[in-house]
Amino acid sequence: MGLQVGIDLGGTNIAGGIVSEEGKVLCRQSVPTGQGCSPERIADQIAALCRELVQESGIAWQSVQWIGVGVPGSVEKKTGTVEYANNINFVQVPLRQMLEERLNCRAYIENDANSAAWGEYQIGAGKGCSSMVMLTLGTGIGGGIIENGRLLSGCNGAAGELGHFVLDLKGKPCNCGLRGCFEQYGSVTALIEQTKFAMRTTPDSLMHRWAAEHGGCVDGRTPFEAMRAGDSAAKKVVQAYVRYLCLGITSIINIFQPEMLCLGGGISREGETLLGPVRAFAAQHGYARGSVRQTRIAAAVLQNDAGVIGAALLGKEQEAERQIPIV
Ligand SMILES: [Zn+2]
Repeated sequence: MGLQVGIDLGGTNIAGGIVSEEGKVLCRQSVPTGQGCSPERIADQIAALCRELVQESGIAWQSVQWIGVGVPGSVEKKTGTVEYANNINFVQVPLRQMLEERLNCRAYIENDANSAAWGEYQIGAGKGCSSMVMLTLGTGIGGGIIENGRLLSGCNGAAGELGHFVLDLKGKPCNCGLRGCFEQYGSVTALIEQTKFAMRTTPDSLMHRWAAEHGGCVDGRTPFEAMRAGDSAAKKVVQAYVRYLCLGITSIINIFQPEMLCLGGGISREGETLLGPVRAFAAQHGYARGSVRQTRIAAAVLQNDAGVIGAALLGKEQEAERQIPIV
């Protein structure tokens, strides 16, 4: 049985797991990312986590085919270099080589959103499709694009930033330096902002009660739950948010016409409340609305494990390029 180690390198945590070829997580662990550490030290941390996972699961190193790492930044996968990752201070870091030297094992690296999309494509909602676009709604909007069984990387490894096309010329400033990016309207951060704004102007809204019952916390569920309880202000928030999702997702479908478009992130658990209107809008306004074949729109299925599983399965995408047979 082929086993892989999958690592999801984040700004606050490094999560890892031993993953079977079928994408089953056999054992998992997570450690805090050393703050302000050098790339050398972070590579040491990843290597130590890999060793611990192998030891804890009781498997032999010989049964580990490779390790895969999802990195929060741009990755040039041909050379295995992290070109730029802002929140871990990586600039032109040859991470693949650093890990292979430390572990004496094949390593693959990829952007984290691309890794998660790859996992979803291999064993999740996109299984069996020839093309898929995954959109992860969270603090920002992450994306991954798969065409003919390969991840789209672009000329510099930075393709798939689906949160950063502009919906509003004079819109809200975005972290990327532009204004009015899709991320500023379709992310969960944006939904929470819109919710808080509506709560300030409607003191009698049920959104206040829901938040109070949840430790004063306003999150992505607040407007959905209050809407379901019959609150009209919450319904307006959800409708405005879903309208932006409809526009963003239909634009993405117009460009790629993938067989599957899947929505990830905790908010995708809202299911048909989100997916229903998006499907209806795309069917009515999508450029290819006259075509017999239409993009299917569905929720991602891997949820929290997508990053680790996708990273673990990276060898399946990149092995051909390395041109070294995997024994
Ligand atoms: Zn942007």
